[in-house]
Amino acid sequence: MFLRKLVLGVLLSWACAAQSPTHADILRGEYGPYRANNDLLFYHLDVRVDPEKKFIGGKNTIRFKMLKDGTRIQLDLHEALNIDKILFGSAALHYVRDSGAVFVDFPETLRAGRVYTIDFYYSGNPVETGRFGGIAFRKDPSGHPWVNTACEGIGASLWWPNKDQWRDEVENMLISVAIPNGLVDVSNGKFVGKTDLGDGYTRWDWRVQYPINNYDVSLNIGNYEHFAGRLGNLRLDFYALPEDLDKARKQFAQAKGMLQAFQHYFGEYPFRKDGYKLIEAPYSGMEHQSAVTYGNHFANGYLERDWTGVGISLRFDFIIVHESAHEWFGNSITAADQSDMWIHEGWATYLECLYVEYMWGREDALKYTNGYKSKVQNALPIVAPRGVNATPPQDMYFKGALFLNTLRSVVNDDRRWWALIRGFYQHFKYRNIMTEDVVEYFNRKTGMNLTPVFDQYLRHAALPALELAFDDAQGTVSYRWKADEPAFAMPVRVGTKDHWRIIRPTTAWQTMETPLHKDQFEVATDLYYILVAPGPGGTPLSPVG
Ligand SMILES: [Zn+2]
Repeated sequence: MFLRKLVLGVLLSWACAAQSPTHADILRGEYGPYRANNDLLFYHLDVRVDPEKKFIGGKNTIRFKMLKDGTRIQLDLHEALNIDKILFGSAALHYVRDSGAVFVDFPETLRAGRVYTIDFYYSGNPVETGRFGGIAFRKDPSGHPWVNTACEGIGASLWWPNKDQWRDEVENMLISVAIPNGLVDVSNGKFVGKTDLGDGYTRWDWRVQYPINNYDVSLNIGNYEHFAGRLGNLRLDFYALPEDLDKARKQFAQAKGMLQAFQHYFGEYPFRKDGYKLIEAPYSGMEHQSAVTYGNHFANGYLERDWTGVGISLRFDFIIVHESAHEWFGNSITAADQSDMWIHEGWATYLECLYVEYMWGREDALKYTNGYKSKVQNALPIVAPRGVNATPPQDMYFKGALFLNTLRSVVNDDRRWWALIRGFYQHFKYRNIMTEDVVEYFNRKTGMNLTPVFDQYLRHAALPALELAFDDAQGTVSYRWKADEPAFAMPVRVGTKDHWRIIRPTTAWQTMETPLHKDQFEVATDLYYILVAPGPGGTPLSPVG
């Protein structure tokens, strides 16, 4: 008894130590008082990039409204970059740096409800780090400079000063990028124009006309060629290296079908005034708002693999579909904390499944969706700890999509499901939300209490298990849910594939009559992502795939 307690205690303290956030993580992840006291309105990021020296410098003009009286706000900039000065009008402001945070102090009290503007000047050689390099200074195969950003996770403050968190977004933004003559910069938003600065550099100006999260703000500097297209009143712009132009013209044609599919399910492309852009990049891809980056080898599947391993994935370009799905879920609807990132990734992965359904029908979509089961770990909850810059586990993608497919089966009325998910998107578009908002919406619109279902799938590691115990002599089967949520009571289809009946198990045993022997009794595990387990004294039952 004592030993077991001790071991458990040691394990718990290890687990806590492994997860305990650093001071820097709290500064980055917490929506602290010097973030919460203001509301972002506008950035003008105005930089000069020297690809040879791997150097960036310039300023971000930051406009914000105070929500409370105060003399200090928190911004962020990676320690590797210098702060040259922070100006409030013509006055230089005092500031304190603490790891990646920059606390800016004002000589007077800023008043709640009033709008203020500062100019944050910075320069230096940003660190290349993170999955895609954060900001990467590379050369294309023909030797031209190729500079791209992709900084979700590591944070936009890796290469420019901003209020680096997820809850608050500017309403709109200007991006000005001065680069050596002859190169092209593609950033987010609508192209405004370019100006020859007369010193060997040209400035490219882009206007973002919608709220944008920091990590979506991007530079793509290279020897790009451009071609355009149109879908109804939506402008499509494509950028590729000259040597890849023919391949790009062919592969990027898939953008239209993708847009048609997602517009069908959710409504108009969210950033129509800014247009839709697809830009070749040296990494696999990223959902930069209205400027999706693409590096999927101009081939179907994901990096030329059959991504879900069931023969469907090679029919379409995974990166065009997945990254563009984020325009609806991630960029338009954004999670207010990285902890709830399944709102981006679970939904974007589910949108892949919807794309398959739109193009090839329900049966192929189910096959594609269930192909994701092999990637799920069920080791950690999908929703990560809040306010500590925690990245949720990969299950947020695959289990997230399988959960949404399950939810559709719970709703059990496709017409209602299509109206629900469209209504959900339309209700929350351009907003930053948490899981609680999602749950509240689905509860309200379905009139069901889905909270225990959401909680089981998102806030616990384990899948719910349907326990079955057969009594062939009596012709009965007993059933119940084994789940972490005591109130878990998800309806589920059982019987045979041609003759499903819906039972309503709870976590308490119930018994029903069945003409089916346990070898004939099936559970619709392609419609619900669950385990099926034998009850006490029972023998294993093979679920249908
Ligand atoms: Zn994604």
